[in-house]
Amino acid sequence: MQTVQASKRVLVTGGAGFLGSHLCDRLVAAGHDVLCVDNFFTGSRRNVEHLLDSKNFELMRHDVTFPLYVEVDEIYNLACPASPIHYQHDPVQTTKTSVHGAINMLGLAKRLRGKILQASTSEVYGDPEVHPQPESYWGKVNPIGLRSCYDEGKRCAETLFFDYHRQHKLRIKVVRIFNTYGPRMHPNDGRVVSNFIVQALRGEDITIYGDGQQTRSFCYFEDLLEGMVRMMDTRDDFTGPVNIGDPHEFSMLELAERVIALTGARSKLVFKPLPSDDPKQRQPDITLARQELGGWQPQVPLEQGLARTIAYFDQLLSR
Ligand code: NAD
Ligand code: UDP
Repeated sequence: MQTVQASKRVLVTGGAGFLGSHLCDRLVAAGHDVLCVDNFFTGSRRNVEHLLDSKNFELMRHDVTFPLYVEVDEIYNLACPASPIHYQHDPVQTTKTSVHGAINMLGLAKRLRGKILQASTSEVYGDPEVHPQPESYWGKVNPIGLRSCYDEGKRCAETLFFDYHRQHKLRIKVVRIFNTYGPRMHPNDGRVVSNFIVQALRGEDITIYGDGQQTRSFCYFEDLLEGMVRMMDTRDDFTGPVNIGDPHEFSMLELAERVIALTGARSKLVFKPLPSDDPKQRQPDITLARQELGGWQPQVPLEQGLARTIAYFDQLLSR
């Protein structure tokens, strides 16, 4: 007999953003009642427009730095700008979003006795001295630099999650997301995958920051969301933090080469100054995720994910 999963009321903060909107799609398709909350700083109504007619989807404009009074069973806390350009635009608001946002959402979960998942980040490892990064590594983070509003905000949010868990027995889940890409990234998002693809499709120069030897490990959004949803459903005594990402590591030069090959662009590479505190290398150790998330591991190789993302931007830019 097929098991039917009970429908839940699920709050997704940052639900109109890149990852949040795909998560809403997935939860609505699974039959849950989804409340999407967003202040539209980097996300947009357009990302969830197709869901507005569903009877199990609701969109609310709200800034998570203010308290929220709603009734739900589970919370995915994704609200926070993720691109360096955007999170550095108003750094005080970025820290507030992570810290006050976490306090407000944890308070909500406490009142409702609900379960809450935090979208944390590989940035908690800073410019890492341990490679690849396991969850046990405490990181090397500059507390006063340009990236600190994001990195330290996310670290403090993790602290709050674990203190609510210890002090109030709250059921928490913390995932540390490594660079994730895919359709619905904003064309002016500023992150490397969308920048390179948009530049290639427009025949513009591809901007390599620094010498391009720095590395990242890129995960396709579907793989990331599969891990995130599995994490929410793990047994109550498994809190994480757990790394979710694709361990295949590439330099920015290699990424640019692949984007050029897949788009057939004639773009040249131009070298720009490396932003301060830009991590030199990054690769997730996903041993824990494999063990605890039912053998989860990424399925979509970079070439395939890039091809799908290029097709998305190609259509978007030709409108
Ligand atoms: P995104 O910028 O597309 O989405 C963030 C969403 O949060 C946007 O819709 C934005 O409008 C909203 N938001 C920002 N501040 C808010 C506030 N104060 N109140 C309500 N809504 C607010 O970025 P994304 O890539 O979809 O990231 C989603 C989450 O995942 C973020 O928390 C980010 O830190 C985390 N994350 C993403 C990546 C990645 O590579 N995509 C990596 C690590 C962590
Ligand atoms: N980067 C680049 N060109 C760009 C945008 C980014 O070379 O047009 C580099 C950036 O310096 C960093 C890497 O790509 O080393 C990933 O940057 P992104 O902003 O996507 O994510 P993060 O640094 O937060 O991992």
